[in-house]
Amino acid sequence: MTATLINGNALSKIIRADVAARAAALAQQGCRPGLAVLLVGDDPASAVYVRNKIKACEEHGLHSSCDRYPADLSEAELLARIDALNRDPAIHGILVQLPLPAHINSHKVIEAIAAAKDVDGFHIANAGALLTGRPSFRPCTPYGVMMMLQAAKIPLSGASAVVIGRSNIVGKPMALLLLEAGATVTICHSKTRDLASYTRAADIVVAAAGQRNVLRADMVKPGATVIDVGMNRDETGKLCGDVDFESVKEVAGHITPVPGGVGPMTITMLLVNTLTAAEQAYAQRLPS
Ligand code: NDP
Repeated sequence: MTATLINGNALSKIIRADVAARAAALAQQGCRPGLAVLLVGDDPASAVYVRNKIKACEEHGLHSSCDRYPADLSEAELLARIDALNRDPAIHGILVQLPLPAHINSHKVIEAIAAAKDVDGFHIANAGALLTGRPSFRPCTPYGVMMMLQAAKIPLSGASAVVIGRSNIVGKPMALLLLEAGATVTICHSKTRDLASYTRAADIVVAAAGQRNVLRADMVKPGATVIDVGMNRDETGKLCGDVDFESVKEVAGHITPVPGGVGPMTITMLLVNTLTAAEQAYAQRLPS
């Protein structure tokens, strides 16, 4: 049996069309949603991600700006720029591309972003709101995964889910969103003993380890849903995920490809969060 593909490109197209329509409606009322992206240093992967985010904004009627800084930018200069963007009414979302150079404290930088403009959902106020079940900006990658699970009609309430990875930007918020949806969630990581014993029992596995082939066919329950967040390069330089796609697709019920899976959904949910931030800012400006 071959698994059904959950196509991130196709789902993105549908959601992005809705974003474009809502952005146009808001622009007609004099409020064009705006995203500011800050890139420090010359990491080539970060440059590609930033370019794709800016391009997606332009294609869907969002205004965007990108500040590119040398790797030796001081933390104080970066904080001053964020402060200015926090006060800029034309900017509704602020995104600092991670990772930052080692001399800059990324926690301090993220905490400097106004929570209402934190469209990455990494600010401690948004992370805390997610933890306590209150409305917040959801981190884009896990939020995109939830949209994919919903679109594929994967039952979540009562399902057994394993998340491989416990980072603040993917693994932990992913686990919280699955928990919120009623799944019984296990978080695995590099110290987990016998990873396969957990994944084999799972109805849903989300692989976000950043390690090729972390999930192989013998580790997957027949019919399970497998979501591949990983973005790695194989020995030929080709983009690949964390999942051994060719073997796992013969066992799983649903699977996401790399590329064309979670990657485009991450950018799509950034557009959604930025638009939401703009709609909220606009609503607050109107007299009640
Ligand atoms: P991190 O490196 O911050 O976290 C990786 C996590 O995986 C850690 O918790 C680590 O455990 C765990 N881990 C590593 N190796 C193993 C292993 N062999 N078995 C079990 N657990 C393991 O990465 P991110 O969370 O930032 O990203 C994860 C992956 O997702 C990367 O490939 C990244 O490129 C990709 N990504 C893709 C996005 C997209 O849009 N598709 C967006 C963001 C990320 P420990 O904590 O013990 O070290």
